[in-house]
Amino acid sequence: MSSIHLKGLTKHFGSFQAIKQMDLDVHDGEFLALLGPSGCGKSTTMNIIAGMEGATTGRVLFGERDVSDVPMTRRGVGFVFQNYAIFTHMSVRANLAYGLKVRGVPKPEIDKRVAAIADFLQLAPFLDRPSAKLSVNILQRLAIGRSAIVQPAIFLLDEPLSNVDAAFRAVMRTELKHLQRQFKQTMVYVTHDQLEAMTMADRIAVMDHGVLQQVGTPLDVYNNPANVFVARFIGSPGMNLLPASLRETDGNIVADLGAAGVSRPLPRGAAKAAYAQGIQDVWFGFRPEELSLAADSQGIAASVTFIERIGSRTVVHFDAGQAAGKAVFQNDVPLHAGGAAHMVPADAAVRLFDRSTGRAIGEA
Ligand code: ATP
Repeated sequence: MSSIHLKGLTKHFGSFQAIKQMDLDVHDGEFLALLGPSGCGKSTTMNIIAGMEGATTGRVLFGERDVSDVPMTRRGVGFVFQNYAIFTHMSVRANLAYGLKVRGVPKPEIDKRVAAIADFLQLAPFLDRPSAKLSVNILQRLAIGRSAIVQPAIFLLDEPLSNVDAAFRAVMRTELKHLQRQFKQTMVYVTHDQLEAMTMADRIAVMDHGVLQQVGTPLDVYNNPANVFVARFIGSPGMNLLPASLRETDGNIVADLGAAGVSRPLPRGAAKAAYAQGIQDVWFGFRPEELSLAADSQGIAASVTFIERIGSRTVVHFDAGQAAGKAVFQNDVPLHAGGAAHMVPADAAVRLFDRSTGRAIGEA
């Protein structure tokens, strides 16, 4: 087992800086998802952990061991890429056995472990088939099995499910999590798909433009985003952010939303902290799922622009003052496009962000 520590990592490609500054600790036996939009530096970070790329500055440690100058082949990590690397001239069995064979593992032990992993990944019916003739779904399963079979203490997976179909992806999410639980590996999983990160990871590291934005449990990053990027990126739809200014009325702090009205008195923690720091211009944030309809003239005054019915839920697109937002309701919500709506976010769901820095304003 092994923890991973990235210390002061940067990576330049010529004049372009792909990783601006990165400090990250992955605990021993943890499943950490590196999540972010395309081009944010996830694969570069992963390649540096694997030893496929060198960092421009900074160090990589596995446990206490500094591996920064250790070549990939001697780092002892398992690595599965988006484009599976399979020996197509070999059978499924030979592919699975390969890593154990080159390590000199005795044949009876190889047979036992091939049978076990084939069983686990539902590859048993294909064991003696030539790999060249298999579907993408099975090849990706095989790529995972081939790396997993040697039970690396550190297992790195870079978008391993992006080429497979949606139904299979759902199955594999569960299987990968089981695999990691069973072997207790330290797993780093690169994805741009928040559903994968939310469902599988113990913690999520959210990146944007080569900068780590937040590291936390899935619920943490969902409930308490560190900044407006994470607030918008996590959640489907993301968090609503309306421009507001804080002011005090009758001893309460409220958010003035301009043409969209005035909020209810804000829970004291964050509002008081903002006030104490002299912050008036904020983003008034709340999740689309945390809204309820209010009687006329109360809550946020919105005009409904579009209604999206997606089975059990209805997503209501709205304009509120200068900003647009979304609300998620039950499918029988009595709203229609072109109509007006008054909505109130649950008090505990309100989050405030400093408009000048984009950072979340925490409890006092
Ligand atoms: P994706 O999901 O699209 O793969 P990513 O978050 O994994 O995105 P990276 O592949 O790490 O992003 O790339 C980060 C940035 O660095 C991108 O702008 C990319 O174009 C750039 N980049 C990556 N490798 C190189 C390279 N060898 N030379 C120049 N630029 C590179």
